[in-house]
Amino acid sequence: MSTVAELLSEARRLSLEDAPLLLAHVLGKDRGWLFAWPEHRLDDVQLKQYRQLLERRRQGEPLAYLTGEREFWSLALEVSPAVLIPRPETELLVELALNLDLPESIQVLELGTGSGAIAIALATERPDWQITATDTSAAALAIARGNAARHQAPNLDFIQGHWYQALSGDGKYQLILSNPPYVMAGDPHLLEDGLPWEPPEALTAGSDGLADLRIIISEAPAHLLPDADGWLLVEHGYDQGKAVRDLFRKAGFSQVITRQDLGGKDRVTLGCYPPRP
Ligand code: GLN
Repeated sequence: MSTVAELLSEARRLSLEDAPLLLAHVLGKDRGWLFAWPEHRLDDVQLKQYRQLLERRRQGEPLAYLTGEREFWSLALEVSPAVLIPRPETELLVELALNLDLPESIQVLELGTGSGAIAIALATERPDWQITATDTSAAALAIARGNAARHQAPNLDFIQGHWYQALSGDGKYQLILSNPPYVMAGDPHLLEDGLPWEPPEALTAGSDGLADLRIIISEAPAHLLPDADGWLLVEHGYDQGKAVRDLFRKAGFSQVITRQDLGGKDRVTLGCYPPRP
């Protein structure tokens, strides 16, 4: 009974910014299609679905969970509430990894892959890298595997396990990366920006937010090649740079440095192992 044009003008009147995307999603089209077919009429089922999605968005549910999709590193990825929504800041982790001076063909490990965003970005950029990505959640791995298939990343394998637990520990990786949970439990930020809809186990890590980073950093040397320059890169909170650099040094890393995201905030720390003289 309602046309696309009527719904778009209603959305403008009510300042419902994401309405065009949700409308396009319900119709299985892209946004451009809406403007080409303003007289198209939604059927009752579509209209009901559109109104329900708008209401969920109004309640604060992230757009990516409503459309089931989010772009990362120019790759369209499927997401669900089983995985953290990939953030643009995390592209820094990918960028820094690609800029390291590493051989053409290496073994790479990504811990806590979620939607697979980081691993798939690296796999498509470096087809000669052999990448292993882990996650403790079977539901997350199902999403990640689907995304890897969608982007044809045959050089990427997934293993279910908590951090390094499912790995043999034979020290074969030359690059380890992770965007682990790093928000302090009880941080008021967890109540904002759609975070209440995201998996808490992908966001919070103990009373100081460093619980998982401690495990990832302290156990990394056992998984890095003993006789070649290997690197660990981790994402962390804007106020955790110093604490994370200290953890790297305590674990025996050298060349330890923290890099800022586009917003100028400390975001990724990296270090080399075995330590260079
Ligand atoms: N950057 C995310 C946020 O604060 C947290 C992601 C994470 O814990 N890895 O919204």
